[in-house]
Amino acid sequence: MEYSCQTYQLKCNECGRTYGNRPLSGCPECLAPLEIHYDFEAIQKQTPITRQSIQNGPHNIWRYAAMLPIPEGFEPDLPVGFTPLIRAKNLGKRIGASNLYVKNDSVCFPTLSFKDRVVSVALANAQKFGFKTVGCSSTGNLANSVAAQAARLGLDACILVPADLEPAKILNTLVYGARLVRIDGNYDHVNRLCTQIADEYAWGFVNVNLRPYYAEGSKTQGYEIAEQLGWRLPDNVVCPMAGGSLIRKIRKAFNELIALGLVEDKPVRFFGAQATGCSPISQSVRQGWDYIEPQRPNTIARSLAIGNPADGPAASKMIRATGGWAEDVSDVEVVSGMQELAESEGIFTETAGGVTTAVTARLYAQGRISPDETTVVCITGNGLKTTDALVGRFDHLDARAVRPRLSDFADYLRELDGVTENELVAAD
Ligand SMILES: *Cc1c(COP(=O)(O)O)cnc(C)c1O
Ligand SMILES: [Zn+2]
Repeated sequence: MEYSCQTYQLKCNECGRTYGNRPLSGCPECLAPLEIHYDFEAIQKQTPITRQSIQNGPHNIWRYAAMLPIPEGFEPDLPVGFTPLIRAKNLGKRIGASNLYVKNDSVCFPTLSFKDRVVSVALANAQKFGFKTVGCSSTGNLANSVAAQAARLGLDACILVPADLEPAKILNTLVYGARLVRIDGNYDHVNRLCTQIADEYAWGFVNVNLRPYYAEGSKTQGYEIAEQLGWRLPDNVVCPMAGGSLIRKIRKAFNELIALGLVEDKPVRFFGAQATGCSPISQSVRQGWDYIEPQRPNTIARSLAIGNPADGPAASKMIRATGGWAEDVSDVEVVSGMQELAESEGIFTETAGGVTTAVTARLYAQGRISPDETTVVCITGNGLKTTDALVGRFDHLDARAVRPRLSDFADYLRELDGVTENELVAAD
């Protein structure tokens, strides 16, 4: 269960020891998180990475394969990623931002969240390590993506989730034929159990013993943002945080692009978004701590509900080092954020996107971001998976049915709030 590779390997963040390529959850010596370390000089010597070489690649994350921990001989199968980066003029107008972009991973292939990026890189390695069964501890979206991609690759999947997960996220896992185990506890209980299972069985858990590989998949969102801005870095990134991995990896992606000479060096500030009901990282940022104080999650933003985030301390330090900030918003603001993005840009995001949208609005209101700065808001999941968050928001759902007659329709229109006489003008 090991493979050798000239261009990348596991390295400990703390003690600097290296471990080649094998399934490992943390440094066996000091228990610190492991990260993939690349020898970009060797990579550049083998096949130079240029804007052109990337643009010649497929229209998905595999165009960046040379900058990812992808085992030799791996043949990419699924066209994951390369989601739209759209100019958000309408949302910008509402919140006082004139240079706002939305990176829309709510339409990521194949399971409508940014987790498809991390899972595809993790499973490429799971196959190389020889795992027949893969799994994860999940707050929902990861479960969906592991189940779908394991099915496609012919791997068995065993997925553990907190028992109170949204029904849609459970259904979106079961449909792929995955084994799903609901655990009577919160995500942090589930994750601890998965660590024990990974030690006991020869299973590949994408966010436990494959975590260093998994996490690198998040970099592709950063690469895409820079490429889609015309090989430019933005001034600011606003990103939701659960374990605190994605926000760090977007920064890592930007730094690699600078080191490779693919974009011009410039400071980018990172802003983290959480729900108040689970806000250990935003609390740490605001208090100026180098650690996080674990919390017991209580929020509708379940995909972000990790009370003891693995990359929390590192994310907190990184955000402050860039001159950024973090905020958290109430569940009521989360739902308003979902509606605001849908009404202004036609993008239906899940609760996590409501968090990010509401936090973005607050950052502009606080003056932490100036109106004309280029800011990218990371929308990471799809609203169709969390429709229960909107129950009770629209009285139309139980409005009376109108008889199929023009005059009844006209009467009905006049009863409605907000219908203007203008709309009722007859056609010539
Ligand atoms: C997992 C997840 C995140 C956060 O990811 P981390 O890398 O754990 O911080 C954000 N948004 C959605 C929708 C997610 O599912
Ligand atoms: Zn170490």
